[in-house]
Amino acid sequence: MQQDIPPAPAFADILAARERLAPHAHRTPVLTSRSFDALAGAQVFFKCETFQRGGAFKFRGAMNAVLSLPAEVRARGVVAYSSGNHAQGLAYAAKLAGVPAAIVMPQDAPALKVAATRGYGAEVVSYDRYTESREEIGAALAAGRGAALIPPFDHPDVIAGQGTATAELLEETGPLDALFVPLGGGGLLAGAGIAAQAMAPGCQVFGVEPEAGNDGQMSLAKGEIVGIAVPRSIADGAIVTSLGRCTFPVIRQTVAGIETASDAELVAMMGFFAERMKLYVEPTGCLGAAAVLKRAADLQGKRVGVILSGGNVDLARFAQLVLEAREAEA
Ligand SMILES: *Cc1c(COP(=O)(O)O)cnc(C)c1O
Repeated sequence: MQQDIPPAPAFADILAARERLAPHAHRTPVLTSRSFDALAGAQVFFKCETFQRGGAFKFRGAMNAVLSLPAEVRARGVVAYSSGNHAQGLAYAAKLAGVPAAIVMPQDAPALKVAATRGYGAEVVSYDRYTESREEIGAALAAGRGAALIPPFDHPDVIAGQGTATAELLEETGPLDALFVPLGGGGLLAGAGIAAQAMAPGCQVFGVEPEAGNDGQMSLAKGEIVGIAVPRSIADGAIVTSLGRCTFPVIRQTVAGIETASDAELVAMMGFFAERMKLYVEPTGCLGAAAVLKRAADLQGKRVGVILSGGNVDLARFAQLVLEAREAEA
């Protein structure tokens, strides 16, 4: 049975989300780096969602979705399936809204993310990401409790909430020539596309996904959603098997192209951000910056925005990834 695709949010929905989120979400800083600008040959503005509540932009979409629920639905609680940051974002949002949350997470999700989700008071339900369907488990759980299922990206209220990150960035920087956005299921990118189209129409928006899972690139090329097997990449926030039915049409309409970055390129960026900018960015959060360096030839002298989407990564894993890469180089 084919369900109706919910309508895409408009720029007005992003503005409404900004008002809803104003008392709750951080207005994250926009930072610059002369060393990065020198590497890229461009003027680059980093929107640091690493400093968002819950450690990633996901809090924006989750909180907007929770606050947009009718009061009687919200009271029965919320359910989500997520490989990590959406779980934390929604758990935190539910806690602030005073409603119960149950989160379906893969057994192999990063320990830090599982612990943080529990720490926000949510119930964690585990599943095997290579054999079980998180969508089915989440839907059954929500139906059983009469709770609202808040998907990680494929929902108009989630997209509108994520769009507030780009709206804040553009408000601060003024028009940009290009914007690079990490891409998993496309909630962040769709929100960025809608905000940029309204606020900076000349800005080319690019999604950036892991090289190991370029389903977004294939989908744009084919003009329809292309699904892939679960990609194996260190970018655990972006190892999604397909774009959403709600995000894809928006991305098709508002995005100039989709780039990819390899795990090695992401690790190099993690080291750069830590050392040069004192920023702790998770692998997925580095996708946009890695793509800027790859596309540097086309960006000379341009004003470029990059969303550093999150900073949730175990310290030991962070250190191990950076060390292994440097030893291999030496
Ligand atoms: C979820 C996530 C993404 C991808 O966002 P989508 O809306 O699924 O495209 C990128 N970076 C981080 C840190 C994330 O948590």
